[in-house]
Amino acid sequence: MTPYERASSEASRRIEVLPSEMAGWINASQTNVDGLGIHRSQLFALRDMLDTLTLRQRELLAKRPQPAATGEYAESELEFTAELVGAYELWTAFRSVFEQRREERLVRALDAADLVAASAYRCAIDRAMAWKVVKPNEFREPPLVCAEAVGSPGTAARGQQVAGLTGTIRRYRGKLLPIPLVLFPADRLDDIWTYSTLAHEVGHDLDADLAFGSEAIDAGIAALDAAGGPKDRQDAWRGWGAEVAADAVGVALAGAGFAGGLADWLLSVALAKLFTAPNGDPHPPPHLRVRLIAGLLEGAGVASWLPLAAGLDADIDAADPPAWQKPFDADAHAFASAVISTPLTALAGHAIAELSPDIAADAALAEKLATYLRTGFNRVPTPAGPPPFPARLAPSAAALAVRASSAQADLGGIARRALDYIHDIPRPAFLAAPPAGRREFLRGLAESLDVRPPPADD
Ligand SMILES: [Zn+2]
Repeated sequence: MTPYERASSEASRRIEVLPSEMAGWINASQTNVDGLGIHRSQLFALRDMLDTLTLRQRELLAKRPQPAATGEYAESELEFTAELVGAYELWTAFRSVFEQRREERLVRALDAADLVAASAYRCAIDRAMAWKVVKPNEFREPPLVCAEAVGSPGTAARGQQVAGLTGTIRRYRGKLLPIPLVLFPADRLDDIWTYSTLAHEVGHDLDADLAFGSEAIDAGIAALDAAGGPKDRQDAWRGWGAEVAADAVGVALAGAGFAGGLADWLLSVALAKLFTAPNGDPHPPPHLRVRLIAGLLEGAGVASWLPLAAGLDADIDAADPPAWQKPFDADAHAFASAVISTPLTALAGHAIAELSPDIAADAALAEKLATYLRTGFNRVPTPAGPPPFPARLAPSAAALAVRASSAQADLGGIARRALDYIHDIPRPAFLAAPPAGRREFLRGLAESLDVRPPPADD
């Protein structure tokens, strides 16, 4: 056997490893019927995605040149390996996400996080379908939440080597995976109120689906122009715009609890050295981001949110943001307000604030639940409804409960009641078979995925 013949023989063996692993996993999970619930359709979508990738590897193998000492053959071996490694990397990410759901200690929390993310995602997708910007079968599976060693959901580990699962998931964040993956800080899994930030991550997923972000950013820039702001700050605003748009989705789908909880989180780190000078982070620096959140609340047009917006503004007025941020501070309200309230072509003439059918009604629901979560008395509204309480609002209600509590807040009690409450919400009905055209759509997404690892740059 020549080295080239050996490589070719090995290639057809290497191709079988991933499909056989996946098959074993599907079998095992199918015997574990309970608890699979909302994951069944995600598992099938995952299998379809991997099948599609395997098909591409088989095609590469089929058109391989003759095994011989040629440059052409060598290139084909490298190309095949890159495709295989990329597919395996993606599979590994999903496998570890599903494996987390087999861990007794994690499963209840992760299940709740999945339900919250799915509720936010479906709420917006249902709206998009009603506006006819999405066809009834052309949307992705709900996101899967993955507990990871990260500081915050969606915050890049600045200056650190991003490796392993985190790196893989980040690499696919802006791309259309058939099942979006959301990273969540493992050390915050017990703090149910922090799940309200999942609505921000869902915002990134929805932007990948519906492509409204750049238009929303343009609307923000236009508002700055209209206010006569100087052009030299616009590049920075464009750099932060996608995160402001994701925060706008967070406000639309998770409301004041999201806004207040995130603002508290940001204020706790705002005075760190890291933010004393521009640092290239796609997120606006914390003081500025809190000001933007106030602007989003104001721009959303819900009267009951105005006191919170005013409170956050007062916090920033009293704070001492680093000097470089001050000119941007003056732009923040106009920018944020335009991002959340401008009708967008990508949303068929609707604004981000309309991604929930009725944010004022959402606000009232979350307030009511917050009282129960804080006090433990009078469990209203009931989780089962009718209509069932939207899971996306439950962590926000918990965040409102924490903010309304005294310094000796019963965090353990709020967390326990919120988690129980989410589990008492009737689960979305499980479809035995995907509706016509749906599998084809998801397969199409998998076909267009470039899984090859990026060239190493270190
Ligand atoms: Zn983000």
